[in-house]
Amino acid sequence: MTSTNNFDVVVFGGGSAGYACALRASQLGQSVALIEKDKLGGTCLHRGCIPTKALLHAAEIADHTRDSAHYGVKADFVGIDMTGVNSYKDGIVNKTFRGLSGLIKSRGITIVEGDGKLVAANAVEVNGVRYEGRNVVLATGSTPRSLPGLNIDGKRIITSEHALHLQQVPQSVVVLGGGVIGVEFASVWRSFGAEVTIVEALPRLVPTEDTESSKRLERAFRKRGIKFHTGVRFSGVTETEGGVQVSLEDGKTIDAELLMVAVGRGSVSEGLGYEQAGIAMERGSVVVNEYCQTNVPGVYAIGDLIPTLQLAHVGFQEGILVAEHIAGQEVKPIDYKGVPRVTYSDPEIASVGLTTEQAKEQGYEVKEAMYDLAGNPKSSILNTSGVVKVITAQDGPVLGIHMVGARVGELIGEAQLIYNWEAFPSDVAPLIHAHPSQNEALGEAHLALAGKPLHVHG
Ligand SMILES: Cc1cc2nc3c(=O)[nH]c(=O)nc-3n(C[C@H](O)[C@H](O)[C@H](O)COP(=O)(O)OP(=O)(O)OC[C@H]3O[C@@H](n4cnc5c(N)ncnc54)[C@H](O)[C@@H]3O)c2cc1C
Repeated sequence: MTSTNNFDVVVFGGGSAGYACALRASQLGQSVALIEKDKLGGTCLHRGCIPTKALLHAAEIADHTRDSAHYGVKADFVGIDMTGVNSYKDGIVNKTFRGLSGLIKSRGITIVEGDGKLVAANAVEVNGVRYEGRNVVLATGSTPRSLPGLNIDGKRIITSEHALHLQQVPQSVVVLGGGVIGVEFASVWRSFGAEVTIVEALPRLVPTEDTESSKRLERAFRKRGIKFHTGVRFSGVTETEGGVQVSLEDGKTIDAELLMVAVGRGSVSEGLGYEQAGIAMERGSVVVNEYCQTNVPGVYAIGDLIPTLQLAHVGFQEGILVAEHIAGQEVKPIDYKGVPRVTYSDPEIASVGLTTEQAKEQGYEVKEAMYDLAGNPKSSILNTSGVVKVITAQDGPVLGIHMVGARVGELIGEAQLIYNWEAFPSDVAPLIHAHPSQNEALGEAHLALAGKPLHVHG
Protein backbone atom coordinates (compact mmCIF):
# COMPACT_ATOMS: atom_id res chain seq x y z
CA MET A 1 0.00 0.00 0.00
CA THR A 2 1.29 3.43 -0.87
CA SER A 3 0.76 5.96 1.92
CA THR A 4 0.46 9.69 1.11
CA ASN A 5 4.19 10.31 1.23
CA ASN A 6 5.42 7.03 -0.16
CA PHE A 7 5.83 6.76 -3.89
CA ASP A 8 7.28 4.43 -6.47
CA VAL A 9 9.25 7.38 -7.84
CA VAL A 10 10.20 10.70 -6.26
CA VAL A 11 11.51 13.13 -8.88
CA PHE A 12 13.57 15.98 -7.43
CA GLY A 13 13.34 18.94 -9.85
CA GLY A 14 10.58 19.79 -12.33
CA GLY A 15 12.59 20.97 -15.37
CA SER A 16 12.69 19.26 -18.77
CA ALA A 17 14.43 16.14 -17.43
CA GLY A 18 12.40 15.80 -14.23
CA TYR A 19 8.94 16.39 -15.66
CA ALA A 20 9.60 14.07 -18.63
CA CYS A 21 10.59 11.34 -16.17
CA ALA A 22 7.47 12.00 -14.07
CA LEU A 23 5.16 11.88 -17.11
CA ARG A 24 6.62 8.62 -18.44
CA ALA A 25 6.71 6.99 -14.99
CA SER A 26 3.04 7.79 -14.37
CA GLN A 27 2.18 6.49 -17.85
CA LEU A 28 3.82 3.21 -16.81
CA GLY A 29 1.59 2.96 -13.75
CA GLN A 30 4.04 4.22 -11.13
CA SER A 31 2.96 6.57 -8.33
CA VAL A 32 5.02 9.73 -8.71
CA ALA A 33 5.87 12.83 -6.66
CA LEU A 34 7.44 15.74 -8.52
CA ILE A 35 9.23 18.28 -6.34
CA GLU A 36 9.78 21.81 -7.64
CA LYS A 37 10.66 25.00 -5.79
CA ASP A 38 10.02 27.41 -8.63
CA LYS A 39 7.96 26.75 -11.78
CA LEU A 40 7.36 23.48 -13.59
CA GLY A 41 9.26 23.56 -16.87
CA GLY A 42 12.51 24.78 -15.30
CA THR A 43 15.27 26.56 -17.17
CA CYS A 44 14.21 25.59 -20.68
CA LEU A 45 10.69 26.96 -20.47
CA HIS A 46 11.27 29.98 -18.24
CA ARG A 47 14.92 31.04 -18.72
CA GLY A 48 16.26 29.12 -21.72
CA CYS A 49 15.05 27.53 -24.94
CA ILE A 50 11.62 29.13 -25.25
CA PRO A 51 12.14 32.80 -24.28
CA THR A 52 15.42 33.00 -26.25
CA LYS A 53 13.78 31.62 -29.37
CA ALA A 54 10.99 34.18 -29.04
CA LEU A 55 13.65 36.92 -28.88
CA LEU A 56 15.40 35.43 -31.92
CA HIS A 57 12.14 35.45 -33.84
CA ALA A 58 11.53 39.11 -32.99
CA ALA A 59 15.13 39.74 -34.10
CA GLU A 60 14.44 38.03 -37.43
CA ILE A 61 11.40 40.24 -37.98
CA ALA A 62 13.51 43.34 -37.22
CA ASP A 63 16.06 42.24 -39.83
CA HIS A 64 13.39 41.47 -42.41
CA THR A 65 11.81 44.88 -41.84
CA ARG A 66 15.17 46.60 -42.33
CA ASP A 67 15.82 44.55 -45.47
CA SER A 68 12.27 44.77 -46.82
CA ALA A 69 13.31 46.78 -49.89
CA HIS A 70 15.36 43.77 -51.02
CA TYR A 71 12.07 41.94 -51.51
CA GLY A 72 10.25 44.90 -52.99
CA VAL A 73 8.20 45.43 -49.87
CA LYS A 74 7.82 48.96 -48.54
CA ALA A 75 8.28 49.13 -44.75
CA ASP A 76 10.19 51.40 -42.42
CA PHE A 77 12.13 50.03 -39.49
CA VAL A 78 11.43 52.47 -36.69
CA GLY A 79 12.93 50.63 -33.74
CA ILE A 80 12.52 47.97 -31.09
CA ASP A 81 9.89 48.32 -28.39
CA MET A 82 11.26 46.07 -25.64
CA THR A 83 7.97 46.23 -23.73
CA GLY A 84 6.24 44.77 -26.76
CA VAL A 85 9.00 42.20 -27.35
CA ASN A 86 8.89 41.10 -23.71
CA SER A 87 5.14 40.84 -23.72
CA TYR A 88 5.23 38.63 -26.87
CA LYS A 89 7.99 36.48 -25.31
CA ASP A 90 6.26 36.19 -21.93
CA GLY A 91 2.96 35.37 -23.66
CA ILE A 92 4.56 32.33 -25.32
CA VAL A 93 6.19 31.21 -22.06
CA ASN A 94 2.97 31.62 -20.06
CA LYS A 95 0.83 29.78 -22.60
CA THR A 96 3.31 26.88 -22.69
CA PHE A 97 3.53 26.87 -18.88
CA ARG A 98 -0.25 26.65 -18.52
CA GLY A 99 -0.34 23.77 -21.00
CA LEU A 100 2.46 21.90 -19.27
CA SER A 101 1.04 22.39 -15.76
CA GLY A 102 -2.35 21.11 -16.92
CA LEU A 103 -0.77 18.08 -18.58
CA ILE A 104 1.22 17.12 -15.48
CA LYS A 105 -1.80 17.53 -13.20
CA SER A 106 -3.97 15.47 -15.55
CA ARG A 107 -1.61 12.52 -15.18
CA GLY A 108 -2.23 12.11 -11.45
CA ILE A 109 1.30 13.15 -10.50
CA THR A 110 1.62 14.60 -6.98
CA ILE A 111 3.23 18.01 -7.38
CA VAL A 112 5.12 19.15 -4.29
CA GLU A 113 5.93 22.86 -4.23
CA GLY A 114 8.92 23.94 -2.19
CA ASP A 115 12.65 23.84 -1.64
CA GLY A 116 13.74 20.23 -1.26
CA LYS A 117 16.74 18.45 0.20
CA LEU A 118 17.82 14.83 -0.12
CA VAL A 119 17.80 13.62 3.50
CA ALA A 120 18.37 9.91 2.78
CA ALA A 121 19.05 7.88 -0.33
CA ASN A 122 15.31 7.25 -0.62
CA ALA A 123 13.84 10.50 0.71
CA VAL A 124 13.53 14.18 -0.16
CA GLU A 125 12.32 16.58 2.50
CA VAL A 126 10.26 19.66 1.63
CA ASN A 127 8.97 22.11 4.25
CA GLY A 128 9.55 19.54 7.00
CA VAL A 129 7.64 16.78 5.17
CA ARG A 130 9.45 13.67 4.02
CA TYR A 131 8.67 12.18 0.59
CA GLU A 132 9.98 8.64 0.26
CA GLY A 133 10.45 6.76 -2.98
CA ARG A 134 11.36 3.22 -3.94
CA ASN A 135 13.41 5.19 -6.45
CA VAL A 136 14.62 8.76 -6.31
CA VAL A 137 15.50 10.68 -9.48
CA LEU A 138 17.72 13.72 -9.03
CA ALA A 139 16.98 16.41 -11.64
CA THR A 140 17.94 19.73 -10.04
CA GLY A 141 19.48 21.13 -13.23
CA SER A 142 22.03 23.86 -13.71
CA THR A 143 22.67 27.56 -13.24
CA PRO A 144 24.97 30.09 -14.98
CA ARG A 145 28.67 29.83 -14.12
CA SER A 146 30.87 32.81 -13.47
CA LEU A 147 34.62 33.46 -13.42
CA PRO A 148 36.80 34.49 -10.47
CA GLY A 149 36.86 38.26 -10.07
CA LEU A 150 33.47 38.79 -11.69
CA ASN A 151 30.76 40.37 -9.62
CA ILE A 152 27.50 39.61 -11.36
CA ASP A 153 25.26 42.45 -10.20
CA GLY A 154 22.40 41.89 -12.64
CA LYS A 155 22.72 45.48 -13.84
CA ARG A 156 25.96 46.06 -15.74
CA ILE A 157 27.35 42.57 -15.42
CA ILE A 158 24.65 40.07 -16.21
CA THR A 159 23.93 36.45 -17.14
CA SER A 160 21.46 35.09 -19.68
CA GLU A 161 18.81 35.12 -16.94
CA HIS A 162 19.02 38.91 -16.53
CA ALA A 163 19.37 39.39 -20.28
CA LEU A 164 15.87 37.98 -20.76
CA HIS A 165 14.35 40.81 -18.76
CA LEU A 166 16.07 43.91 -20.15
CA GLN A 167 13.66 46.81 -20.45
CA GLN A 168 15.60 48.40 -23.31
CA VAL A 169 18.07 47.49 -25.99
CA PRO A 170 21.61 48.21 -24.76
CA GLN A 171 23.75 50.41 -27.01
CA SER A 172 26.69 48.07 -26.68
CA VAL A 173 27.37 44.67 -25.12
CA VAL A 174 30.40 42.50 -24.53
CA VAL A 175 29.45 38.83 -24.52
CA LEU A 176 31.92 36.73 -22.59
CA GLY A 177 31.82 33.25 -24.14
CA GLY A 178 31.31 32.30 -27.79
CA GLY A 179 29.37 29.08 -27.13
CA VAL A 180 25.76 28.50 -28.00
CA ILE A 181 24.20 30.86 -25.41
CA GLY A 182 26.67 33.69 -26.08
CA VAL A 183 26.24 33.45 -29.82
CA GLU A 184 22.42 33.41 -29.65
CA PHE A 185 22.25 36.56 -27.51
CA ALA A 186 24.91 38.29 -29.66
CA SER A 187 22.73 37.58 -32.68
CA VAL A 188 19.58 38.95 -31.02
CA TRP A 189 21.22 42.13 -29.78
CA ARG A 190 22.86 42.86 -33.14
CA SER A 191 19.50 42.54 -34.88
CA PHE A 192 18.02 44.86 -32.26
CA GLY A 193 20.68 47.46 -33.14
CA ALA A 194 23.36 47.04 -30.44
CA GLU A 195 27.13 47.06 -30.97
CA VAL A 196 28.20 43.55 -29.97
CA THR A 197 31.63 42.11 -29.20
CA ILE A 198 32.15 38.46 -28.28
CA VAL A 199 35.21 37.31 -26.32
CA GLU A 200 36.05 33.59 -26.58
CA ALA A 201 39.12 32.02 -24.97
CA LEU A 202 39.24 29.11 -27.43
CA PRO A 203 40.45 29.72 -30.99
CA ARG A 204 36.99 29.88 -32.61
CA LEU A 205 33.33 30.67 -31.99
CA VAL A 206 31.09 27.64 -31.18
CA PRO A 207 34.27 25.62 -30.51
CA THR A 208 32.50 22.30 -29.98
CA GLU A 209 31.05 22.39 -33.51
CA ASP A 210 32.81 21.32 -36.71
CA THR A 211 35.54 23.79 -37.80
CA GLU A 212 33.67 24.49 -41.05
CA SER A 213 30.57 25.57 -39.10
CA SER A 214 32.64 27.94 -36.93
CA LYS A 215 34.29 29.41 -40.02
CA ARG A 216 30.94 30.02 -41.72
CA LEU A 217 29.38 31.52 -38.59
CA GLU A 218 32.35 33.82 -38.08
CA ARG A 219 32.12 34.97 -41.70
CA ALA A 220 28.39 35.67 -41.35
CA PHE A 221 28.84 37.49 -38.03
CA ARG A 222 31.62 39.65 -39.51
CA LYS A 223 29.23 40.62 -42.32
CA ARG A 224 26.57 41.48 -39.75
CA GLY A 225 29.00 43.73 -37.88
CA ILE A 226 29.30 41.46 -34.83
CA LYS A 227 32.87 41.80 -33.56
CA PHE A 228 34.71 38.98 -31.84
CA HIS A 229 38.04 38.21 -30.22
CA THR A 230 38.91 34.52 -30.22
CA GLY A 231 41.87 32.72 -28.62
CA VAL A 232 42.16 35.37 -25.93
CA ARG A 233 41.16 35.29 -22.30
CA PHE A 234 39.25 37.83 -20.33
CA SER A 235 41.43 39.34 -17.60
CA GLY A 236 39.10 41.72 -15.74
CA VAL A 237 36.32 44.24 -15.76
CA THR A 238 35.90 47.66 -14.18
CA GLU A 239 32.83 49.82 -13.94
CA THR A 240 32.84 53.06 -15.89
CA GLU A 241 30.44 55.96 -16.05
CA GLY A 242 28.65 54.51 -19.05
CA GLY A 243 28.88 50.85 -18.12
CA VAL A 244 31.94 48.58 -18.08
CA GLN A 245 35.46 48.33 -19.40
CA VAL A 246 36.46 44.76 -20.16
CA SER A 247 40.18 43.89 -20.29
CA LEU A 248 41.67 41.01 -22.20
CA GLU A 249 44.92 39.17 -21.52
CA ASP A 250 46.44 40.54 -24.76
CA GLY A 251 46.18 44.06 -23.30
CA LYS A 252 43.13 45.16 -25.32
CA THR A 253 40.17 46.83 -23.60
CA ILE A 254 36.54 47.05 -24.72
CA ASP A 255 34.05 49.63 -23.42
CA ALA A 256 30.38 48.73 -23.38
CA GLU A 257 27.13 49.39 -21.58
CA LEU A 258 26.78 45.76 -20.49
CA LEU A 259 28.85 42.63 -19.99
CA MET A 260 26.97 39.35 -20.38
CA VAL A 261 28.73 36.35 -18.89
CA ALA A 262 28.03 33.15 -20.84
CA VAL A 263 30.89 30.88 -19.81
CA GLY A 264 28.82 27.74 -19.31
CA ARG A 265 26.47 26.33 -16.72
CA GLY A 266 27.26 24.45 -13.53
CA SER A 267 25.11 21.77 -11.88
CA VAL A 268 22.76 22.68 -9.02
CA SER A 269 23.92 20.25 -6.32
CA GLU A 270 25.46 22.28 -3.50
CA GLY A 271 23.78 21.92 -0.14
CA LEU A 272 21.20 19.46 -1.45
CA GLY A 273 22.46 16.50 0.59
CA TYR A 274 23.80 14.49 -2.33
CA GLU A 275 27.29 13.88 -0.92
CA GLN A 276 25.89 13.10 2.55
CA ALA A 277 23.72 10.40 0.98
CA GLY A 278 26.91 8.85 -0.41
CA ILE A 279 26.32 9.83 -4.02
CA ALA A 280 29.51 10.01 -6.11
CA MET A 281 30.09 13.48 -7.53
CA GLU A 282 32.65 15.00 -9.86
CA ARG A 283 33.13 18.78 -10.00
CA GLY A 284 29.58 19.38 -8.79
CA SER A 285 27.96 16.95 -11.27
CA VAL A 286 26.45 13.62 -10.27
CA VAL A 287 28.32 10.61 -11.69
CA VAL A 288 26.07 8.07 -13.44
CA ASN A 289 26.32 4.98 -15.64
CA GLU A 290 24.71 4.54 -19.08
CA TYR A 291 21.30 4.01 -17.42
CA CYS A 292 21.65 7.25 -15.42
CA GLN A 293 22.07 5.22 -12.19
CA THR A 294 24.25 6.73 -9.48
CA ASN A 295 26.49 4.57 -7.31
CA VAL A 296 23.69 4.42 -4.70
CA PRO A 297 21.05 1.75 -5.49
CA GLY A 298 17.65 3.23 -6.33
CA VAL A 299 19.02 6.73 -6.97
CA TYR A 300 19.19 8.05 -10.53
CA ALA A 301 20.29 11.44 -11.91
CA ILE A 302 19.33 13.10 -15.20
CA GLY A 303 19.50 16.33 -17.20
CA ASP A 304 21.95 19.18 -16.70
CA LEU A 305 22.88 17.75 -13.30
CA ILE A 306 24.94 15.03 -14.98
CA PRO A 307 27.87 15.62 -17.35
CA THR A 308 26.02 14.87 -20.61
CA LEU A 309 25.01 17.42 -23.28
CA GLN A 310 23.13 20.29 -21.61
CA LEU A 311 20.08 20.23 -23.87
CA ALA A 312 16.40 20.01 -23.05
CA HIS A 313 15.78 17.10 -25.42
CA VAL A 314 18.66 15.19 -23.84
CA GLY A 315 16.96 15.74 -20.48
CA PHE A 316 13.63 14.52 -21.90
CA GLN A 317 15.25 11.33 -23.21
CA GLU A 318 17.19 10.66 -20.00
CA GLY A 319 13.96 11.13 -18.04
CA ILE A 320 12.11 8.65 -20.26
CA LEU A 321 14.98 6.16 -20.09
CA VAL A 322 15.04 6.25 -16.30
CA ALA A 323 11.26 5.88 -15.97
CA GLU A 324 11.34 2.84 -18.24
CA HIS A 325 14.34 1.35 -16.42
CA ILE A 326 12.55 1.75 -13.09
CA ALA A 327 9.46 0.08 -14.55
CA GLY A 328 11.60 -2.90 -15.52
CA GLN A 329 11.52 -2.31 -19.27
CA GLU A 330 14.46 -3.15 -21.46
CA VAL A 331 16.15 0.15 -22.33
CA LYS A 332 18.92 1.06 -24.73
CA PRO A 333 21.58 3.53 -23.52
CA ILE A 334 21.55 6.89 -25.32
CA ASP A 335 24.08 7.45 -28.14
CA TYR A 336 24.98 11.03 -27.30
CA LYS A 337 26.67 11.52 -30.67
CA GLY A 338 23.24 10.97 -32.25
CA VAL A 339 21.65 13.88 -30.38
CA PRO A 340 20.62 16.72 -32.71
CA ARG A 341 22.26 20.04 -31.77
CA VAL A 342 21.02 23.43 -32.92
CA THR A 343 22.40 26.92 -32.35
CA TYR A 344 19.52 29.25 -33.19
CA SER A 345 21.48 32.37 -34.12
CA ASP A 346 21.34 34.04 -37.53
CA PRO A 347 22.65 32.03 -39.27
CA GLU A 348 21.67 28.81 -37.51
CA ILE A 349 24.04 25.91 -36.98
CA ALA A 350 22.68 22.36 -36.85
CA SER A 351 24.68 19.19 -36.39
CA VAL A 352 24.54 15.54 -35.50
CA GLY A 353 27.26 12.89 -35.20
CA LEU A 354 31.00 13.37 -35.39
CA THR A 355 32.98 16.37 -36.60
CA THR A 356 35.68 15.73 -39.20
CA GLU A 357 38.34 15.98 -36.50
CA GLN A 358 36.55 13.51 -34.21
CA ALA A 359 36.02 11.05 -37.07
CA LYS A 360 39.73 11.16 -37.93
CA GLU A 361 40.70 10.79 -34.27
CA GLN A 362 38.54 7.68 -34.14
CA GLY A 363 40.57 6.21 -37.00
CA TYR A 364 38.07 6.61 -39.84
CA GLU A 365 39.26 7.25 -43.35
CA VAL A 366 36.95 10.18 -43.94
CA LYS A 367 35.08 11.16 -47.10
CA GLU A 368 33.13 14.45 -47.18
CA ALA A 369 30.75 16.40 -49.36
CA MET A 370 30.00 20.09 -48.90
CA TYR A 371 26.94 21.45 -50.63
CA ASP A 372 26.96 25.25 -50.72
CA LEU A 373 23.52 26.78 -50.13
CA ALA A 374 24.31 29.16 -53.02
CA GLY A 375 23.16 26.27 -55.24
CA ASN A 376 19.88 25.84 -53.33
CA PRO A 377 17.08 28.04 -54.71
CA LYS A 378 15.01 28.03 -51.49
CA SER A 379 18.03 29.41 -49.61
CA SER A 380 18.42 32.11 -52.27
CA ILE A 381 14.73 32.98 -51.85
CA LEU A 382 15.36 33.31 -48.11
CA ASN A 383 18.49 35.36 -48.90
CA THR A 384 20.72 33.11 -46.82
CA SER A 385 24.11 31.59 -47.45
CA GLY A 386 25.68 28.57 -45.79
CA VAL A 387 26.57 24.96 -46.29
CA VAL A 388 25.54 21.37 -45.70
CA LYS A 389 28.52 19.16 -44.94
CA VAL A 390 28.19 15.38 -44.78
CA ILE A 391 30.97 13.18 -43.43
CA THR A 392 31.12 9.45 -44.11
CA ALA A 393 33.55 6.65 -43.55
CA GLN A 394 35.19 5.46 -46.78
CA ASP A 395 32.58 3.01 -48.16
CA GLY A 396 30.75 3.31 -44.87
CA PRO A 397 27.76 5.00 -43.25
CA VAL A 398 27.23 8.69 -42.56
CA LEU A 399 29.28 9.72 -39.51
CA GLY A 400 28.24 13.35 -39.17
CA ILE A 401 26.14 16.12 -40.71
CA HIS A 402 26.89 19.81 -40.15
CA MET A 403 24.78 22.63 -41.52
CA VAL A 404 24.94 26.43 -41.43
CA GLY A 405 22.34 28.87 -42.78
CA ALA A 406 18.98 30.44 -41.96
CA ARG A 407 16.45 27.82 -40.78
CA VAL A 408 18.81 24.83 -41.08
CA GLY A 409 17.68 23.83 -37.57
CA GLU A 410 14.53 22.57 -39.28
CA LEU A 411 16.65 20.17 -41.38
CA ILE A 412 18.14 18.38 -38.40
CA GLY A 413 15.22 15.93 -38.16
CA GLU A 414 16.17 14.28 -41.43
CA ALA A 415 19.88 14.53 -40.64
CA GLN A 416 19.44 12.73 -37.32
CA LEU A 417 17.49 9.90 -38.94
CA ILE A 418 20.28 9.45 -41.48
CA TYR A 419 22.92 9.34 -38.73
CA ASN A 420 21.00 7.26 -36.21
CA TRP A 421 19.83 4.69 -38.78
CA GLU A 422 23.46 4.42 -39.93
CA ALA A 423 22.46 5.16 -43.52
CA PHE A 424 24.99 5.01 -46.35
CA PRO A 425 24.99 7.86 -48.90
CA SER A 426 23.68 5.34 -51.43
CA ASP A 427 20.63 4.73 -49.16
CA VAL A 428 19.79 8.45 -49.03
CA ALA A 429 20.63 9.38 -52.65
CA PRO A 430 17.49 7.82 -54.19
CA LEU A 431 15.16 9.48 -51.66
CA ILE A 432 13.27 12.35 -53.25
CA HIS A 433 13.47 15.79 -51.65
CA ALA A 434 10.68 18.28 -52.30
CA HIS A 435 11.55 21.14 -54.62
CA PRO A 436 12.17 23.90 -53.79
CA SER A 437 13.19 23.19 -50.20
CA GLN A 438 16.32 23.58 -48.14
CA ASN A 439 16.17 19.79 -47.59
CA GLU A 440 17.30 19.43 -51.17
CA ALA A 441 20.76 20.56 -50.06
CA LEU A 442 20.94 17.46 -47.83
CA GLY A 443 19.82 15.32 -50.76
CA GLU A 444 22.43 16.92 -53.05
CA ALA A 445 25.27 16.27 -50.57
CA HIS A 446 24.30 12.58 -50.43
CA LEU A 447 23.98 12.40 -54.23
CA ALA A 448 27.52 13.77 -54.48
CA LEU A 449 28.84 11.20 -51.98
CA ALA A 450 27.04 8.43 -53.87
CA GLY A 451 28.97 9.49 -56.99
CA LYS A 452 26.09 11.14 -58.86
CA PRO A 453 26.07 14.87 -58.06
CA LEU A 454 23.14 16.70 -59.69
CA HIS A 455 23.16 20.49 -59.25
CA VAL A 456 26.93 20.80 -58.92
CA HIS A 457 29.27 22.72 -61.25
CA GLY A 458 32.45 21.15 -62.60
C1 LIG B 1 19.69 30.82 -22.41
C2 LIG B 1 19.50 29.34 -22.61
C3 LIG B 1 19.03 28.87 -23.82
C4 LIG B 1 18.84 27.51 -24.01
N1 LIG B 1 18.37 27.08 -25.22
C5 LIG B 1 18.18 25.76 -25.42
C6 LIG B 1 17.64 25.29 -26.65
O1 LIG B 1 17.32 26.06 -27.55
N2 LIG B 1 17.45 23.96 -26.79
C7 LIG B 1 17.79 23.07 -25.82
O2 LIG B 1 17.62 21.87 -26.01
N3 LIG B 1 18.30 23.48 -24.63
C8 LIG B 1 18.50 24.80 -24.41
N4 LIG B 1 18.98 25.24 -23.22
C9 LIG B 1 19.35 24.23 -22.20
C10 LIG B 1 18.13 23.71 -21.45
O3 LIG B 1 17.42 24.79 -20.92
C11 LIG B 1 18.58 22.76 -20.35
O4 LIG B 1 19.37 21.74 -20.90
C12 LIG B 1 17.40 22.13 -19.64
O5 LIG B 1 16.56 23.11 -19.08
C13 LIG B 1 17.89 21.18 -18.52
O6 LIG B 1 16.80 20.61 -17.88
P1 LIG B 1 16.93 20.04 -16.40
O7 LIG B 1 15.58 19.47 -16.10
O8 LIG B 1 18.11 19.17 -16.29
O9 LIG B 1 17.23 21.29 -15.48
P2 LIG B 1 16.39 22.61 -15.20
O10 LIG B 1 15.56 22.97 -16.36
O11 LIG B 1 17.37 23.60 -14.70
O12 LIG B 1 15.38 22.18 -14.05
C14 LIG B 1 15.78 21.91 -12.74
C15 LIG B 1 14.65 22.26 -11.83
O13 LIG B 1 14.97 21.84 -10.51
C16 LIG B 1 14.47 22.80 -9.61
N5 LIG B 1 15.23 22.73 -8.36
C17 LIG B 1 16.56 22.93 -8.19
N6 LIG B 1 16.87 22.81 -6.87
C18 LIG B 1 15.73 22.54 -6.22
C19 LIG B 1 15.40 22.35 -4.84
N7 LIG B 1 16.33 22.42 -3.89
N8 LIG B 1 14.12 22.07 -4.53
C20 LIG B 1 13.15 22.00 -5.47
N9 LIG B 1 13.39 22.20 -6.77
C21 LIG B 1 14.68 22.47 -7.16
C22 LIG B 1 14.68 24.12 -10.33
O14 LIG B 1 13.82 25.13 -9.80
C23 LIG B 1 14.38 23.75 -11.77
O15 LIG B 1 13.05 24.03 -12.12
C24 LIG B 1 19.15 26.59 -22.97
C25 LIG B 1 19.59 27.07 -21.73
C26 LIG B 1 19.76 28.43 -21.55
C27 LIG B 1 20.24 28.92 -20.22
